[in-house]
Amino acid sequence: MQVGFIGLGNMGAFMAKRLIDAGHQLFVNDLNPQAIEQLVAQGATEIKQLNGFAEHHLDAIFTMLPAAEQVKNVYINNGLIASLKKQNCILVDCSTIDPASAQIVAQHAHENHLEMLDAPVSGGTVGAKNGTLTFMVGGNQAALQHIQVLFDSMGKNTIHCGEHGHGQVAKIANNMLLGITMVGAAEAMNLGLRLGMNAQTLAHVINHSSGRSWSTEVNNPVPQVCPDAPASRNYTGGFASQLMLKDLGLALEAAQTADQPVFMGSMAKQMYHHFTQEHEPNLDFSAIIKLYQNDKEETK
Ligand code: NAD
Repeated sequence: MQVGFIGLGNMGAFMAKRLIDAGHQLFVNDLNPQAIEQLVAQGATEIKQLNGFAEHHLDAIFTMLPAAEQVKNVYINNGLIASLKKQNCILVDCSTIDPASAQIVAQHAHENHLEMLDAPVSGGTVGAKNGTLTFMVGGNQAALQHIQVLFDSMGKNTIHCGEHGHGQVAKIANNMLLGITMVGAAEAMNLGLRLGMNAQTLAHVINHSSGRSWSTEVNNPVPQVCPDAPASRNYTGGFASQLMLKDLGLALEAAQTADQPVFMGSMAKQMYHHFTQEHEPNLDFSAIIKLYQNDKEETK
């Protein structure tokens, strides 16, 4: 297939590379010339202006941008959608943004006779590199099926979640729970340690009991409990605390629009806000355990 890709950052560069490796022809754009160079060296074609994508009659265009502001700029304000009007090109936004913004962009696409899917991902940069992402997709299921092969090149699970915006709803609900379980894992592990228990033994107990979660089993916040987890390499190379704070913010905003209480999500957000003020915000979100340990000087 002929595919466009906009946003070649930590996630997008790996995802675009997976599409090239699967034999698709890639057309790429990013504000950062180095990010483009890297993909061009791997066989992609640079598209300098957003309206240049229309000349190639692509099957799909993916975006992987930081936040809703950039997504709305690319698709609406900078004219990507208008330039593609009535083309048979499916638009797929994989960025994590609020469901309402995803719906606004999809509506704009619809008005221009284009199909649009919101398809945020779980799995981080390791999943992007290895092609093991989970995609949570909102929008027309037939459009998804039409380009399923592209999702299969980048991920191992693609789940249709419902109408436009529901991919983002699934993503923010999942990440809110992840933030909450991580805070809980940190609190429980730290309590055990302070009461004199061995960390490995405590994790072993929890992981064979009802307190088990991904945060205790795969990404345990205590160093050396999981040798491959960020905690065992000074909390580097994981899912940045500031990104968790962003996702908790999205969940809280969405909860407000639905007039729904999110007591735990709101407490987790306060903790990540405090953490990112006091510590290096790029540390993995499991470093939240430092709030219980009074050792912030070490990480400043
Ligand atoms: P990033 O900041 O590394 O990459 C974003 C890229 O978009 C950059 O290369 C930037 O130059 C480019 N960009 C920004 N504005 C642009 C514009 N107007 N036109 C063209 N290019 C533009 O971000 P990332 O870590 O790759 O994350 C992307 C999205 O994926 C975010 O929404 C994030 O929340 C989500 N996400 C990230 C992870 C992760 O582990 N990093 C995991 C899951 C989801």
